Amino acid sequence: MGERKGLILIGAPGSGKGTQAKRLKDQFGLAHISTGDLLRAAVAAGSELGRKAKGYMDEGGLVPDSLVIDLLRLALDGPEAAAGFILDGFPRTLPQAEALDAAVAIDKVIDIQVPFSLIEERITGRRMSPSGHVYHVKYSPPKVEGVCDVTGEALYQRSDDTAEKVRSRLSKFEQETRPVIARYQSKGIVVAVDGVGEPDEVYARILAVL
Ligand code: AMP
Repeated sequence: MGERKGLILIGAPGSGKGTQAKRLKDQFGLAHISTGDLLRAAVAAGSELGRKAKGYMDEGGLVPDSLVIDLLRLALDGPEAAAGFILDGFPRTLPQAEALDAAVAIDKVIDIQVPFSLIEERITGRRMSPSGHVYHVKYSPPKVEGVCDVTGEALYQRSDDTAEKVRSRLSKFEQETRPVIARYQSKGIVVAVDGVGEPDEVYARILAVL
């Protein structure tokens, strides 16, 4: 306890959790555990977990707790997470938070705040590279439209990054994830960070509260 750094990045879809988690990983050598990335990899691989999860993800719903909790346990046991970890997109429900707290110590929860009025444009403009690099058609476009700067691969849009799916994802956030933030607030470990602005500016705000 205490030796292993445990951070949670929490916030609405499109708040920049993934972007900021990658930076923290690179600077501090912590594992970046994104349950969304792990689930998308399972869907792409056509595994049993992927087949079970796909329908929920396509609808902008949440994957059942038992599946996600198992996935997270495996990731926490991996060698990259030995020195510490950054959770991105987990926990999203109270049962997930309870399972997490029973397994590991969490030092800090960084609540990245972005007004809902900005979320739709952020999400619908998002483009992904199969290699994991993320772009935005307006805010961080690739040098050549539709092509990853780093790997040259064709960019794609997540199937749940549409205006109508955003609404159900935001309502899940309000119903299921707000209480998770409240749970950690009552433990006194939540720090709120303004998520509006350039990724560099937001990252500087995160470093200031770490
Ligand atoms: P994300 O990449 O974090 O936006 O996650 C993409 C989708 O994967 C979500 O909309 C959910 O359907 C599913 N998902 C990711 N993490 C979780 C979680 N902790 N609990 C339930 N579903 C999740």
